[in-house]
Amino acid sequence: MLIIMSREATPQQIEDVITHITELGLRAHPIPGEMRTAIGITGNQGPLHPEEFENLPGVVQAVRVTKSFKLVSRETKPEDTIVNVSGVKIGGAGLAIIGGPCSVESRDQILKSAEQVKTGGGHMLRGGAFKPRTSPYAFRGKGKDALEWLALAGKEFSLPVVSEVVDAESCEMAIPYLDMMQVGARNMQNFALLESVAKSGRPVLLKRGPAASLDELLNAAEYLLAAGNYQVVLCERGIRSFSDFARNTLDLNIVPAAKEASHLPIIVDPSHGTGHRKMVTPLARAAVAVGADGLIVEVHPDPDHALSDGYQTLFPQQFAALVSSLKPIAESLGRAL
Ligand code: PEP
Ligand code: MN
Repeated sequence: MLIIMSREATPQQIEDVITHITELGLRAHPIPGEMRTAIGITGNQGPLHPEEFENLPGVVQAVRVTKSFKLVSRETKPEDTIVNVSGVKIGGAGLAIIGGPCSVESRDQILKSAEQVKTGGGHMLRGGAFKPRTSPYAFRGKGKDALEWLALAGKEFSLPVVSEVVDAESCEMAIPYLDMMQVGARNMQNFALLESVAKSGRPVLLKRGPAASLDELLNAAEYLLAAGNYQVVLCERGIRSFSDFARNTLDLNIVPAAKEASHLPIIVDPSHGTGHRKMVTPLARAAVAVGADGLIVEVHPDPDHALSDGYQTLFPQQFAALVSSLKPIAESLGRAL
């Protein structure tokens, strides 16, 4: 159920509706918009009756939200959400470029990476500390040390940092170090993890599962919003298909589709989406051209000796060239880099 408040509704009337919802044992999610405030309701087991709310002062209408996801839908919030990650805005008129290595390998490696991301025109730094790997014998990340080095490098070069957390324990450990929490593709529907990440209070980068539909992605995001965290960025990173020349098939169709269905920003990962260094730049440009709100790209000071995903990782000069080539594409769409 979505309560649409009148444009003239007073803050007290909004507060009274929230109290009424809470007293019914439900959760109220006020969503201020440019024209008016809406209040989403979650927590009901069965259907709610519009009359229960429509007679309250300041309420224009109570409408049933028809989709299985509610708070993430455009029906609930027509305006685009802009997520603020320690000063970097994702969504809106700008483009957010996140660069960095697949994994944080050492203090020196991530400091060097941060410098190269900064000089290459990136806005945020990525680097894995907890790596979910297909094989249990592959390099699985340096954990807390990696978080410390990542936070240090981010501070040194004024780049907010994002890294993946894989369970409640790593999430708790990461809170002091990260500006943004990443939920990896393999964990998109790990609902217990989504709730831990939501409670961390940090903005969340939610990657699409390799076999997840748009509906499933948006419902996973709904878990985050329903738990009170509205700072969510979606990420397309490639899906499984019969195509056999790339690691994954980057499904750029989802960018306009997600934008129609949801107000949340969506960025694209052309590194995991293709799995080949030579394909990253063209697909990154294509992602911007279809309207993505940003990119997350793997870049390493020495990709050929990276401990993970080196074959899909850009050299620093390739990253810088990519970012500068995005400028005219962004501008042609009325966006700025
Ligand atoms: C990553 O970004 O480091 C990563 C492992 O990506 P994904 O979850 O999309 O595979
Ligand atoms: Mn990787």
